[in-house]
Amino acid sequence: MHDTCDIPATFTGQAAAPGRVVGPAFHWPGPESGIPLLLADPSAALRQALAGAHARLTAALVTADATLAPLLDAQRLMLDDPDFRDGALELVAAGGDLVDAVLTVAGQLAALLEGADSAYFRERAIDVRAVGTLVAATLRGEIGADIPRGAVVLAEELAPLDTARLAEAGVAALVTVRGGPTCHAAIMARAWGIPAVVGAPDAVLRIAEGAPVLVDGADGAVIVHPTPAQQARQRQPAVSYALSPRIPIYANIGSLAEAERAVTLGAEGIGLLRTEFLFQGRQQPPSEEAQVEAYTAILRCMAGRPLVVRTLDIGADKPVPFLPTPPEANPQLGLRGIRLCLQQRELFCTQLRALLRVSVTGPLKIMLPMVTTVEEMRETCALLAGLADTLGVALPPCGAMIEVPMAALAAPELATVCDFFSLGTNDLLQFLLAADRQHAGVGYLHAGEHPAVWRLIAPVIAAAHAASIPVGVCGEWGADPEKLARLLGLGVDTVSVAVGALPQVRALFA
Ligand code: PEP
Ligand code: MG
Repeated sequence: MHDTCDIPATFTGQAAAPGRVVGPAFHWPGPESGIPLLLADPSAALRQALAGAHARLTAALVTADATLAPLLDAQRLMLDDPDFRDGALELVAAGGDLVDAVLTVAGQLAALLEGADSAYFRERAIDVRAVGTLVAATLRGEIGADIPRGAVVLAEELAPLDTARLAEAGVAALVTVRGGPTCHAAIMARAWGIPAVVGAPDAVLRIAEGAPVLVDGADGAVIVHPTPAQQARQRQPAVSYALSPRIPIYANIGSLAEAERAVTLGAEGIGLLRTEFLFQGRQQPPSEEAQVEAYTAILRCMAGRPLVVRTLDIGADKPVPFLPTPPEANPQLGLRGIRLCLQQRELFCTQLRALLRVSVTGPLKIMLPMVTTVEEMRETCALLAGLADTLGVALPPCGAMIEVPMAALAAPELATVCDFFSLGTNDLLQFLLAADRQHAGVGYLHAGEHPAVWRLIAPVIAAAHAASIPVGVCGEWGADPEKLARLLGLGVDTVSVAVGALPQVRALFA
């Protein structure tokens, strides 16, 4: 890596998930090391894969013992071997596939070493093959199991699936260059209680691998080689609130593990189950049976508390491998959420059937994402009614997320065909402000105050109540004390927040 930063330095990004931790820097290779690059430019793809493999070996070195460390170091040196790189590119120029070329050249170099007189060189053959496998895995976008626990992850950007993998691996903090405070990586970091900073300057990608980095996810600071004084600094206690009236506090989740944590933290229900997490990263969608099993497990875990399941919200920033969508110039405004589901009938009906079957066993509600028109709601209700009839089950309540400005404006009409509303303030803000929630450059708009927004939100709540249906909030505004106070004043009936935010939201009502 060039221009590596291994001296004390402070960078500032946008606060995305609170918490203050120190850990060794770990560069996440990112989606750029995956398959699409192979097709575009083999030489650039290989360069990036070599850098990604280098970063992983360096990160592994941080915790390696005296036996392993020299081996990893030797593997790092092999990544710089021009015979390896040029040999692979020559095979590609002759029409070969880059991953195959990498493995072939590694095999050839290993065979040469195996023929050496010295036992030392013969043993290095294993390392050469290991390097080939590592680079091939990096090229394929496969993630190694070597994510160091307690590391501070530095990434250009993080896809939801990558964020989940990192969180499960027990990393200490996340820092990304792209993304705003309401991007999915930020939401997931808050859910997992992992401190995060988004929209950090590019320079964080040059922080030396393994260098100690302090992340303060409440004020957006990223400090390389923090001083003992900086590490010891405590944050000011948050202002205390006493909000009223007390409304049910639900959790936003994406898995059974999160449901379990939510229950432990006192969630009174689930206001948003993001079902796309069941579908992402798979070559085939889950079967009806697999979905019945997954939803049943979560409903059981909630032990009689309500569960609002959102139907698939894929597309845009949440792609799935089994449904390759053509590139879109404006994916946030494209074929996603309920729009995509109504076009992919088999996929949608499989999910609806699974939900209907599970709904007979507990208090399950169905919620549709990205509703824009009354017709979308009507079409889905008709589909549901037909499926429920065939299955011989009663219809569970079905509601709409209000996250598209048109749906907010059409709230009086929508309320006649919905059993409830849920305000999705993340997307609602994105569309109102014409500011991509993933785009760090416009994150300041999301962070700003926009009193005029209430002119849109207040009538939605009023329209719901005029039609005698409840309205909740499941966007990130629910965890913001000032915004929540305002929403309560307007009469919102429930609030649903990231699992990690449950304790502080509960405390707001104390
Ligand atoms: C929202 O848009 O406010 C929301 C809760 O949904 P998501 O963040 O999954 O888009
Ligand atoms: Mg949304």
